[in-house]
Amino acid sequence: MHYVENPPNPWLKHSVEWLGEPPEAKLEVFEETQTRKIITHNDSPDVGFDYTINCYRGCIHGCTYCFSRPTHEYLGYGAGTDFDRKIVVKVNAPTLLRNELMQPSWKGDEIVFSFTSDPYIPLEANYKLTRQCLEICLEFRQPIGIITKSALIRRDIDVLQELSKHTHLAVFFTIPFTDREVARAVEPYAPLPEARFHAMTDLAAAGLSLIFGVMKVLNVAHGELIMLGGYGTYWLFALLRMDPFASLLVVIPATLVLGAVLYAVLFGFVVRAHEETRIKNSLLVGFGLALALHALALRLWTADDRSVTTAYGGAVLHVGPLAIPVIRLVSLAIAFALIAGLHLLLARWRWGKAIRATAEDWQAALLTGIDVRRAYLLAFAIGTALAGAAGTLVSVGYSISPAIGLEWTLKALIVVVLAGLGSMLGTFAAGLVVGVAEALSAAAFGGPYREVVGLVIFLVVLVARPQGLFGRPSR
Ligand code: SF4
Repeated sequence: MHYVENPPNPWLKHSVEWLGEPPEAKLEVFEETQTRKIITHNDSPDVGFDYTINCYRGCIHGCTYCFSRPTHEYLGYGAGTDFDRKIVVKVNAPTLLRNELMQPSWKGDEIVFSFTSDPYIPLEANYKLTRQCLEICLEFRQPIGIITKSALIRRDIDVLQELSKHTHLAVFFTIPFTDREVARAVEPYAPLPEARFHAMTDLAAAGLSLIFGVMKVLNVAHGELIMLGGYGTYWLFALLRMDPFASLLVVIPATLVLGAVLYAVLFGFVVRAHEETRIKNSLLVGFGLALALHALALRLWTADDRSVTTAYGGAVLHVGPLAIPVIRLVSLAIAFALIAGLHLLLARWRWGKAIRATAEDWQAALLTGIDVRRAYLLAFAIGTALAGAAGTLVSVGYSISPAIGLEWTLKALIVVVLAGLGSMLGTFAAGLVVGVAEALSAAAFGGPYREVVGLVIFLVVLVARPQGLFGRPSR
């Protein structure tokens, strides 16, 4: 048995075998300026995509199993050490890509960055060819996929975020081994598995689509949770004379715990179901919970309307010709503060990022090491606490009764449909739109038409723009 530096090249008439040890392979970089095309078509039934881009040929990562090795033989090099040490850099790749994307014959199919090399080999840190090509894809809203083993992709998170907003983007990390010793032996110069997992976490938390599906749970008992928050405030006011706004300090933690319990007892089982059955099961559980909470409220507080009447309830702030009720103004300020707090929580807190990553793609989040069950639990508990806080704000402006649950669930659904599922900023804007539309219609046509206007908006948006005003169309 003797060491072979590169196996014989089938495209060459002659091959060289070293007598004794071959010289040590050194990194050599060749800049190719004569490349004529950069988008390559493949019709292999084994490959799940038709078009690829490779700004490099040969790959420094040097995985022993790499199926791209024989492609190096077309260049007259060997598939062995030549593949990971003689690297060809297509320096005019961005110019070629722009020209090809401008061709009328280009139909905008997905292009995958990968095939004859990892698009993020270490040389990319200097050449930035993959990054330039991604920026061009962004300009053209070109759908793309990226297959990589490299944490260098984190450098381009800004471009990837923009791409994911405007077109289809899928990032695949190949991590065949988690054991660093095995990985080092088989993929000698690729980043260690931990580095790839960290890169994936960063991408997932940045809200990128990494493939797979999304969390599908709809809580139709949301209105009943708002009702409970309202009754909690009512009780604290009636029994302890606690100011309704101050009662938020009790209602929010209490409903947070309630949400965690409800998730553990009811919804935790739903999310374990297959994705397709999740939405149906969550509807069934939600309706059951709504009925149970409605019956409980009837038993505890009867069907009578209850209201929280404070000394400052009738106070009005005059701004020019406008008379603004002070409690509505304070409620609005608290609602803004809660939304801003939620935004900060999701943007800054480690578990907030985990919740966003899980909502975007629970399977990819799971692969990055995120405890998806805990993220679900936290999301559900925070959602319930926000419903409780909303109940407090409702109780100071409206009367509450066991029947208000359905009305507020419908309002919440209208706002969510108008905004588009998962759009936080959109939800905020849609809430304002629905609120203003309802107030104007009540003033113009009378109070009973308030709900009708909301439902009309709901139907029009569902028909004209099913993904909502701020949501992205599903692909
Ligand atoms: S990273 Fe990919 S392209 Fe590079 S050697 Fe490994 S398998 Fe081949």
